[in-house]
Amino acid sequence: MPASASDPLGIGELAGVGGKSEPLFRDLGIVTAKDLLDYFPFRYEDLREPTPAAGLLTAESNESEVNALGRIVSVRERRARGLEIVEVTARDQSGTFVAKWIGRHRYVIGRFHEGMRIFVRGRPERSLAGPIISVSHYRILGETERYCGEIVPVYRASKFLPSRKIAVVVRKNLDRLLELVGVDALPLALASEFGFAPVIEAYRGVHAPADPEEARLARERFVFAEFLVMAVAALLRRAERERHHDAAVLRVPDGLLADFERELPFALTCAQRRVVEEIWRDMSRDVPMNRLLQGDVGSGKTLVAGAAVVLAARNGFQSALMAPTEILAAQHLERLTSVLVPFRIAIEPVLGAQGARARQNSLDRLASGEALLAVGTHALLTQDVEFKRLGLVIIDEQHRFGVRHRALLRAKGASPHTLHMTATPIPRTLAQSQYADLDESRIDELPPGRTDIRTFAVRQTRVARVYDFVRQIVAKGGQAFVVAPTIDEGESGAASANAVYEELTRDVFSDLRLALVHGRLSTKEKDEAMRRFSKGDAHVLVATTVVEVGVDVPNASVMVVLDAHRYGLAQLHQLRGRVGRSAAESYCILVYPDDRDESDRLSILTQTNDGFAIAEADLELRGAGEFAGTAQSGKSEFRFGDIARDFAIYSQARRVAESIMKRDPALRSREHAGLRAALEAMPSLRELLASS
Ligand code: ADP
Ligand code: MG
Repeated sequence: MPASASDPLGIGELAGVGGKSEPLFRDLGIVTAKDLLDYFPFRYEDLREPTPAAGLLTAESNESEVNALGRIVSVRERRARGLEIVEVTARDQSGTFVAKWIGRHRYVIGRFHEGMRIFVRGRPERSLAGPIISVSHYRILGETERYCGEIVPVYRASKFLPSRKIAVVVRKNLDRLLELVGVDALPLALASEFGFAPVIEAYRGVHAPADPEEARLARERFVFAEFLVMAVAALLRRAERERHHDAAVLRVPDGLLADFERELPFALTCAQRRVVEEIWRDMSRDVPMNRLLQGDVGSGKTLVAGAAVVLAARNGFQSALMAPTEILAAQHLERLTSVLVPFRIAIEPVLGAQGARARQNSLDRLASGEALLAVGTHALLTQDVEFKRLGLVIIDEQHRFGVRHRALLRAKGASPHTLHMTATPIPRTLAQSQYADLDESRIDELPPGRTDIRTFAVRQTRVARVYDFVRQIVAKGGQAFVVAPTIDEGESGAASANAVYEELTRDVFSDLRLALVHGRLSTKEKDEAMRRFSKGDAHVLVATTVVEVGVDVPNASVMVVLDAHRYGLAQLHQLRGRVGRSAAESYCILVYPDDRDESDRLSILTQTNDGFAIAEADLELRGAGEFAGTAQSGKSEFRFGDIARDFAIYSQARRVAESIMKRDPALRSREHAGLRAALEAMPSLRELLASS
């Protein structure tokens, strides 16, 4: 068996896979035979039961294809517009139906005769003469043959490797494939408690089920096992963290919150107060804090971060805040300076753009402990940045940093407390699975006095009126963003920033001043355009989504998003957050093509400004896989399950994981050997398990 692990059976060695098809399998990510075994069908065609002819058009199933079985009463073959058409009328006990082949099925010509028994599957259509089935699949049955249909798995296919071919290879090799199944992560007793089949049977149930229920249960088993492994992994990481009692215990002096608030020009919102207390409570433990702070743009996270810095400073510890861009770092620097001045906390910037002299100065003051807070970018990670006593690490827009970068910053202190921040609300389901080893705080309330951004969804035909509106706003002294999904006109046909800029400059807004920002401009050009816009020199900024983060121009009160159908809801909400930053009434206008029905989806944005609700809706609409493709959360780590669709299974797996960890925290018992092996296959956990 070890031999097969080190030298896995290649896909090319299976029966039915030749030199031609091997690369096609590889293109689908199927390199080894085991990959094929783990390549699950995404649906099944049920060819078992024919529907009586009389029920073909009312079939309750919402499947798009139906099965029918009957005896041929007439055959008609004709040509129309150069296509051969074969129409066979057949009858069963309930009535008649027509089976129809068009064009590409020329080979059926001459095959059918009155009196034959025939099975067909295809898409049903209504006609005056009764149901017509456009046949995708058929079989001629012998006079006494009993129809014996099966469930046909449908695999994700490619242009040159159809599902049918994949199914044939799986079927031919199934017994051999099943020999490759290793130890099962799911403990035996658990599997039977939940009514799951043994793992080999479950694989058979996925690829060759006797009925849809078997397939469903088999898939559920793999999803459950996968979620169980992830949930146990998260609990192990958390336990590991809890085992280290080496964090600085920070004392919260009486009345600190009141002192903090007294120095602010406004009162904290209830949500801010609650979250500050959660964070301070974590920081007063000897276990390092690992907390995710979520709050919509403008909810006041910077202030909360400031409160954490104040507590660290009061206890003689330094803090470091890392942001993904220079612009964001500069913004934090400015805001935190005004918050922290009354507390006499000296702040040092650590930025890539800093001159050598200024940088050395900052580094000296951080190394000596004179400065209590460093605010910077990746520039904080280099070796020459040293702290005297780093007790708190804050990571802004945490999803934009890799694990390694976060670890590098933390390594500059001895087990510092860590606060992760994000302005992109993460749906609860994702938070509980992918971020299961983080504690969560949410600021679910905006500071008072904000007016909601009025949002409209508008068809492309009316874009001229949108621009008229922009002109009115500019006439009153306002400014506007116009966002396009691509930089250049591509084959995708999407609106491009360059083309829109040109058109607006030449025609629509020829009397206004415009600026252009996109990712292919040099930093200097970008900065210059941004500077013109934020100073008010440009009335309209045409941009790609680079404006999503880091732009703060309070005078801009209109956000126009072209081709809004190309964005997820969460991303549109982020874009919308670029306006509404002053007391002026603000607007977001989402433009979508005439031929698309986007009104339902976009209406979620026109009806709510609640980022958490929007993120939930987005996840529901797109599924976790797609959702993960945005800037939200990194890649989906699940092979079989979809955390959004299968959340009930996840919750169950999570409960089971907790009970396993209670009984056998180091996973040493025999029944957990398979689970342990699955975890050891994850590099970050191998070490952890070895040391426990
Ligand atoms: P975030 O980082 O969550 O997007 P910020 O911390 O930058 O939000 O705060 C946005 C704006 O709201 C800032 O100008 C800040 O001064 C202001 N602000 C924060 N908290 C409050 C509050 N409780 N009351 C009034 N204004 C607040
Ligand atoms: Mg912020």
